[in-house]
Amino acid sequence: MYVHAQRRPWQKEAGGEIFSAAPSATGLVISAAAGPHPRDHRRRHGWIPDAAAADRARHAAFALGKHAVGLWHTHPEPWPSPSDLDRQTTHEYLETFQGQRSRYLLVIIGNRGSPVSMAVWAVSAERQGVWLELTESASRHASLDDGAMDSLRPTE
Ligand SMILES: [Zn+2]
Repeated sequence: MYVHAQRRPWQKEAGGEIFSAAPSATGLVISAAAGPHPRDHRRRHGWIPDAAAADRARHAAFALGKHAVGLWHTHPEPWPSPSDLDRQTTHEYLETFQGQRSRYLLVIIGNRGSPVSMAVWAVSAERQGVWLELTESASRHASLDDGAMDSLRPTE
């Protein structure tokens, strides 16, 4: 994901789905990421995935025991935050699971720092419309480890 960070003015948004072998685990570990795909519609400020390619990637991951748990994409900003469309799209993905997922993640890669800035949000199925920003706690590394999940912080 980091290699697609939009550090240069001509670099377009990129994204895809992220996968975990244990999607319901408390300490969620992301083990794979798909995308971008060649036929995605990518702009400086926007990204529309190729749905057929995303489906193929999801099935390929599932065959390896990995389940879709969220979306990732890049933003051309240092401290990324989700747009209204990002929130809506993530919520629509969650709804396609029809109750099989309690949450869906939205990972946004920014364009500053080393490692590059990253924001992680989660929308919950039980509390519709409530977004949580996942922040790092004791861990100094940008990863979705147990420490990151322990520091769930509700937003408005
Ligand atoms: Zn976005």
